[in-house]
Amino acid sequence: MNTYVRYPIALKRDTKKLVHPFEVENGLNCNCYCPECDENLIAINKEKNKQIDHFRHQRDTKCTGSYETYIHWLSKEIFKEIDAIKLPEIRFKNLYENYLDKFKDFETRLYNLYSKYYVPKEFRQTYKYDFLIQEKSTFKIDKSYDEKTFKTDKGDYRADIVAEYKNNKILIEPYYSNPIDSIKYNKIVNSNITTLSIDLKPFVGMNNFIYTIEDFKNFITSDINSKFWIFIRKEKVKNLTEKFFYKLENKIKENVTVFKKHKSIKDKISLIENEKNDLFIEMEKLRDKVQILISKTKKEKKELKDLETDYYKRFK
Ligand SMILES: [Zn+2]
Repeated sequence: MNTYVRYPIALKRDTKKLVHPFEVENGLNCNCYCPECDENLIAINKEKNKQIDHFRHQRDTKCTGSYETYIHWLSKEIFKEIDAIKLPEIRFKNLYENYLDKFKDFETRLYNLYSKYYVPKEFRQTYKYDFLIQEKSTFKIDKSYDEKTFKTDKGDYRADIVAEYKNNKILIEPYYSNPIDSIKYNKIVNSNITTLSIDLKPFVGMNNFIYTIEDFKNFITSDINSKFWIFIRKEKVKNLTEKFFYKLENKIKENVTVFKKHKSIKDKISLIENEKNDLFIEMEKLRDKVQILISKTKKEKKELKDLETDYYKRFK
């Protein structure tokens, strides 16, 4: 299978730099290798070639790598060459779904806030609040490592990429088809380091396996839509939680008249319902009365008929 995989970028053996096929000599003279199996790659780059320039393994390769391992490796290499990445925004939903159960007082605080402003229970579906609590931002990188091992109470794990700026660090987990599993997730939670994942599939799909180092660098640096928060460290979540409560209280204050209106409509409905129910009872009673009257007239009519019949019998 690997014989046929086309790699748009490879690593040069002497300089350890990423190169395009058009920057190197043709064939095995390109002096490039596969990071997975360490075999020499062939550069396909002759001008008269009908196929698009690329690198590939030799026909008798023993390589067990795949396109997935390649793009994963390439993303780690790219991190060695960039000095910042754009981070996606954080919405309250991101926090609520993943972390807030870890703050015991959250529900109590919420309950107290709702009670203070008489928020109707219909407006207490907290999970529906989709606040933006942190804008998109840029994370500068002054140091980065790949495949760094972290010790946690749940066991060691290897982070794909660690990006650092001064005392801040984030872990970056690029993936092609398999996002991180729950075992790794639990270890990340235990290590309490902010972690971002990058879905590489949209990039590869959009570029149909043909792209330059710059293209991939731009994607890793600037694309927001393929980046997802996996975990945000507890101290930061606490901070964001305060922002959430501040925003929520302001929104609640702005909507006090809505709550009042909601209550007055509900009161009105319950009044109407009560009146309707009383009338129903009344109606049932009347129905019974009518039934009694109907049977009474039946009885009287029968007596009348009998009387008439009897009268004529007397003339026989
Ligand atoms: Zn290989």
